[in-house]
Amino acid sequence: MPEQFGQGKLNITEGVCELCGHVTQLGALEIHRIVPQEVTEQTGISATATATLCHNCHKEIHDWYARNVSTVAYNPVSKSFQPKSVVNLVKEYEGAFRVFTEYKKSQRDIA
Ligand SMILES: [Zn+2]
Ligand SMILES: [Zn+2]
Repeated sequence: MPEQFGQGKLNITEGVCELCGHVTQLGALEIHRIVPQEVTEQTGISATATATLCHNCHKEIHDWYARNVSTVAYNPVSKSFQPKSVVNLVKEYEGAFRVFTEYKKSQRDIA
């Protein structure tokens, strides 16, 4: 098992989508940043966790983010919405990705 492929799932000609388990041509897989680059840049963290996804799942996770990740929080003291801190945003994206992973897994178990 070549060391550089880490998880042992990828090889030269095909790869497995981490969400749906769909085996596809490696070139067709897309690298998804679990926390978007514009957020990680603000934290000063350059290395960020990524997931290897098929095109469909990649599109789905971005739709999911759009629906589930809010970048503002209601502040009861000032009675207004304020931008979340970068630390909270990172948690928000990581949490949303985890929930989506569970959701896809449960779908896989049924199928
Ligand atoms: Zn997939
Ligand atoms: Zn992405």
